[in-house]
Amino acid sequence: MPNLSKSKLMAYRQCPKRLWLEIHQPSLKQDSAATQASYAVGNQVGDIARQLYDPTGKGQLIDAQAEGYDAAFAQTAELLEGTRPIFEAGFTASGALAFADVMLPMRKGGQRVWRMIEVKSSTSVKDYYRDDVAIQAYVARKASVPLIGIALAHIDSTWVYPGGDNYEGLLVENDLTTEAFARAAEVKAWIAEAQAIANKRNEPKIATGGHCNTPYECGFIAHCQSNEPQAKFSVTWLPRIQTAALKALIATKGVTEMGDVPDSLLNERQRCVKTHTLSNQVYFDATGAAADLAPHKLPAYFIDFETINLAVPIWKGTRPYEQIAFQFSVHRLARNGTLEHQSFLDLSGKDPTKAFAEALVTACGVSGPVFVYNASFEKARIKALAERFPRLKQSLLAINERIVDLLKIAEQRYYHPSQQGSWSIKKVPTRHCPRPLLLRP
Ligand code: SF4
Repeated sequence: MPNLSKSKLMAYRQCPKRLWLEIHQPSLKQDSAATQASYAVGNQVGDIARQLYDPTGKGQLIDAQAEGYDAAFAQTAELLEGTRPIFEAGFTASGALAFADVMLPMRKGGQRVWRMIEVKSSTSVKDYYRDDVAIQAYVARKASVPLIGIALAHIDSTWVYPGGDNYEGLLVENDLTTEAFARAAEVKAWIAEAQAIANKRNEPKIATGGHCNTPYECGFIAHCQSNEPQAKFSVTWLPRIQTAALKALIATKGVTEMGDVPDSLLNERQRCVKTHTLSNQVYFDATGAAADLAPHKLPAYFIDFETINLAVPIWKGTRPYEQIAFQFSVHRLARNGTLEHQSFLDLSGKDPTKAFAEALVTACGVSGPVFVYNASFEKARIKALAERFPRLKQSLLAINERIVDLLKIAEQRYYHPSQQGSWSIKKVPTRHCPRPLLLRP
């Protein structure tokens, strides 16, 4: 019977088939770029946690990948006799194994005891972290570790980096000892169930669904979908499925084809998507679009931003996961029809925000509509810049006052069947637009 790691048990909690595939067909897994990026962020936050929990550098990091599990368990047992913090301490017991991000030594009643901290790169305690922590506590206690407490540390998104490699305050702890210790029976049952699945000869028959992305994006989705009949026009392409009746039709009656959904359950936009997807016809309300654009006279500006959001800030005055704009593109359409382009890109490695804000104010002029696709993102970035740089505040907020959201017009006036119910900029096929919309001088 295999000893199951915490990640395998969490895979089981998401989907028994996922656990089975992780064990028997791991080569079928295809982690997305986003999943791989999340691993890298987790490692980065882990490095910072080691600095924070071990400022004097006396702690010991155990590398189970390099040394092997048995050596890691043996080294952990030895270090648990000592007084130094331990990172990636490994335990195995009762059919499971787990590695703790941080173990801190304490004394209670003259005895050596330990406090465990699980470190997450998220900004809150998610429900599935509670399962994660319960497993860690169960395995450690079953392995006879004198565990006095367990906490989950996550990023405080309100914290502002003071600079100078000082990350004190980046992580905030939540004590989960009572609930984690109280869930031992649940964890015991998960291990037994997961082992039963792991020992099955054949892949469990479980259909894909919402659980494939919750709580984690499952890397076996391509494999699982390849064994299922795929809808020709998927019901999931209907935008904003929110009514209880429509949700029930999909969830309980198993409707997968958009064509099988009665019009009476759809709102106007959903009906437009259904009609034009099934008929493979473009919808374009040119008159309505021209009327929407008529109030906005030339010169007009068209802007787009690129940002980065770092879990661990590197620029003084910025927050974790703050969207930091480092690149923009501004096209200016003049009254005579001339199109000019200005751009900004900071590759210096220094905080780009001030230079970005100054260049944006210059590029956008002082009058004329500023068109953005899905404006809430750019507006929020401009507002944040205005708050950060008081000298530019008035000019930046004036740009926000001129912004016109093209997404709202596109959602109302245009739909191409290839959009599959989405108006994301990546889905709207502008080259198929029947004719250019006119902006008037
Ligand atoms: S893709 Fe979905 S059904 Fe397939 S293993 Fe993953 S979670 Fe389970």
